[in-house]
Amino acid sequence: MSTALSLLDVYAALDRMHARRGWHWWPDADPFEVCVGAILVQNTMWTNVERALDRLREANALDEAAMSALPQAELEELVRPSGQYRQKAKKLRAFLLLAESHGGLAHLLAVEPVALREHLLATWGIGCETADCIVCYAARQPALAIDAYTMRLFSRLGMGPRSAAYDEWQSWMLGNLDRERLQTAHPEPPRDLYARYHALIVMHCKHLCQKRAPLCGDCELRDRCSYPGSEGPGAQARG
Ligand code: SF4
Repeated sequence: MSTALSLLDVYAALDRMHARRGWHWWPDADPFEVCVGAILVQNTMWTNVERALDRLREANALDEAAMSALPQAELEELVRPSGQYRQKAKKLRAFLLLAESHGGLAHLLAVEPVALREHLLATWGIGCETADCIVCYAARQPALAIDAYTMRLFSRLGMGPRSAAYDEWQSWMLGNLDRERLQTAHPEPPRDLYARYHALIVMHCKHLCQKRAPLCGDCELRDRCSYPGSEGPGAQARG
């Protein structure tokens, strides 16, 4: 009988399958671009965010001072390709005001991570996933972002909570990862592990573990997976 999959087993398999691919925030990206991207990507695809970021860059508005000086209508127009552009421009404005109230983005990102997350969550338009992305990829502090891809992958592997509650998934992943890290003397610092793990999950779900018709034949996890169509034991019982 096979032993249970650990989160570090899944991490190692994802790394073998996807390490060669690039991801927009890994290795590290410019902190301001990460913050803007984390807000613009809400409810849309990254390709749309890239178009908005390109327009901001072309308008020399992809830095804190320049964006703060933009009239709201102009900011709305520049971020239009990311969808819900009025709301997103308003969210960016709220974020810029938060940074300004701390003496600028660098000072805000230097705030201790638990307090930084609280400041972000208290800002209009910033939820848990956006806050954790900013803490992890812009402030480069330990935080693990959870998203629909995380829930899809682990549910298919027969792992994780049954609910779709963000906090439950995050506690489950962090609790198990930290325990496994200590048990195996995993060499990566927690922040780098969390940053890379989230990136690998996103890449896996985009390239192989897609919502409809996942490409299980190309997946290293197929003999441990419960999804119908994979080769895992649960798949036969369910399929
Ligand atoms: S075997 Fe298929 S469903 Fe399971 S993790 Fe891999 S791609 Fe996803």
